[in-house]
Amino acid sequence: MITLKDIVELPSGRIFICETIDSKGDPYIVECTEMQDVTGKENPQVLVTDDVDLIRANLVPHEQKWLMTVSTQFGCGYQCRFCDVPLLPFRGNLSAEQIIEQIDLIIRESPHVRKTQKAKIGFARMGEPALNWSNVLKAIHYLKNHRWGDFRFLPCYNSIVPDTIIDGVGPFEILKEVLRVKEEIFDGFLHFQLSINSTNEDERRWLFHGAKVVSLDRLIEFFDKQTITNRTITLNFICGEGWELKPDKLKGLDPEKFVVKLIPLNKTTRGHRDGLKTFANYRNFDLLKQKGDEIRNLGLNVVVDTIAKCEEAGLCCGQLAHIYMKNTKDK
Ligand code: SF4
Repeated sequence: MITLKDIVELPSGRIFICETIDSKGDPYIVECTEMQDVTGKENPQVLVTDDVDLIRANLVPHEQKWLMTVSTQFGCGYQCRFCDVPLLPFRGNLSAEQIIEQIDLIIRESPHVRKTQKAKIGFARMGEPALNWSNVLKAIHYLKNHRWGDFRFLPCYNSIVPDTIIDGVGPFEILKEVLRVKEEIFDGFLHFQLSINSTNEDERRWLFHGAKVVSLDRLIEFFDKQTITNRTITLNFICGEGWELKPDKLKGLDPEKFVVKLIPLNKTTRGHRDGLKTFANYRNFDLLKQKGDEIRNLGLNVVVDTIAKCEEAGLCCGQLAHIYMKNTKDK
């Protein structure tokens, strides 16, 4: 059972701070969110403003797109350097019911949204979905028979792709199972995103704090052999200053299978501790766009995203849960 403890309002959405019981039977705080996209591409000034009214006037209507994220683990089994979830103690996996309850809660707390052609749910707030793949896929499957309103769901599976056996199953079997759900249950409309972040494998491993992950070459080789319809596989690059992103190393990618996504590095406590800085953000978005153009010139599809200033505070996964847990302890 998930209980709502607090709601943090942002100009473009809300973060829900919830309490539930972890795998050891103790109370634990998890986060889930609902947001609207900010139309920064058409109106760049909205990316840098503090003017709440201007931001609200430039939000993509819920009917077109609604973005949600839910947690899949109590903390996370990994320690990526750019992420604040590892500030929380790791207590294992949420059950499928606990994941679905978060979706229920977000929708219950949003009576103003009853219709949307794209309800995108990221199973990527707190936790690495591959470590809890069977419960995550159960929850994704559940969306198909939802009873909440006139929603067309777009589940988003976003993974660092650990190169390890999880519940007796290897990384490629898990990827195949996610693909099966994408193609058979959602007719290809599942956003399948792989966290790449660097074209240098040593650097990737460093960014993932030593976690053994499947190499980019092996991922490309695997997906090249699979049938992929409607939505291509996203190779996601968080762009940090000095992190290797050599377009040459992406040469030969099949645009029918892959899309490359570039996003800025968010400010996090742990990233700051390790001296990580973003390559570009809302103030110098052009730099990121140029990088995108270099890759696009190879004949690849590229999406370049930025984080609006208004979305920075508290947006990073785990930050608010950490503050909330700490405050509760200190009382
Ligand atoms: S980025 Fe994902 S996998 Fe890495 S520590 Fe954060 S939640 Fe875990």
